[in-house]
Amino acid sequence: MVGAKGLWIVDFHTHLGDFPLFNVRLNAEELIDLMNANGIERAVVFSLPNELTLNAVKRYPDRLLGFVWVNPKEEASVSLVRKAVNEWGFRGVKLHPLIDGYLPDDPIVYPIMEEASRLRIPVIFHSGHPPWSLPWHYGNLADRFPDVTIVLGHMGHGHIVYINASIDIARKHENVVLETSGMPMHSKIKEAVERVGVTRVVYGSDAPFGHPAFEILKVKVSGLTDEELRMVLRENALKLLSSGSG
Ligand SMILES: [Zn+2]
Repeated sequence: MVGAKGLWIVDFHTHLGDFPLFNVRLNAEELIDLMNANGIERAVVFSLPNELTLNAVKRYPDRLLGFVWVNPKEEASVSLVRKAVNEWGFRGVKLHPLIDGYLPDDPIVYPIMEEASRLRIPVIFHSGHPPWSLPWHYGNLADRFPDVTIVLGHMGHGHIVYINASIDIARKHENVVLETSGMPMHSKIKEAVERVGVTRVVYGSDAPFGHPAFEILKVKVSGLTDEELRMVLRENALKLLSSGSG
């Protein structure tokens, strides 16, 4: 399980770029350093522009896995998803309804989901902020696209009502996976594993907004068994990333 350098964790949520609003920044080299220092073997990356991700994945193909970040309001979004997967080797899609201003179950999202279904890739969404990224809308989307894996980034984020609703939605919909970054309550990770199932919770750091050192610790102190930790910190992510048409 542990690689040559003691690296074994898979991080399902990282970003590259400069974010002055948050006073954080991260380039590909710094991400690799951060991974090495925190036991992380591989990381999912999504950034804008997507070329940042592409260049990083090209440079570190054995460590980084690209997801393409698209805005469904842009006409080229579906063809960009196809290109990213077929030509760039990306493994999934990132959507941010809060930033781009649409509801997750709005029909404008359907073509992206249909393409994800054809390509057999997961779609990760930001979740946890009104009005555009609340769990109930993801339940509707999960109903309509039962064969697409929907990853709820932040599993409801900071608000207990949204965190509990994310767990409820995942319990009801087998194609919903919960990702742990930015959600403050370690106890809710254990609860998610118990109520949703150990295969549908994945660790993420949201670096550089979150730090892997505390995000990993949050999972480790949540009360999971060693086997459950191995699933949440590594195996579940690898399984999601091995889907795809290639
Ligand atoms: Zn993020």
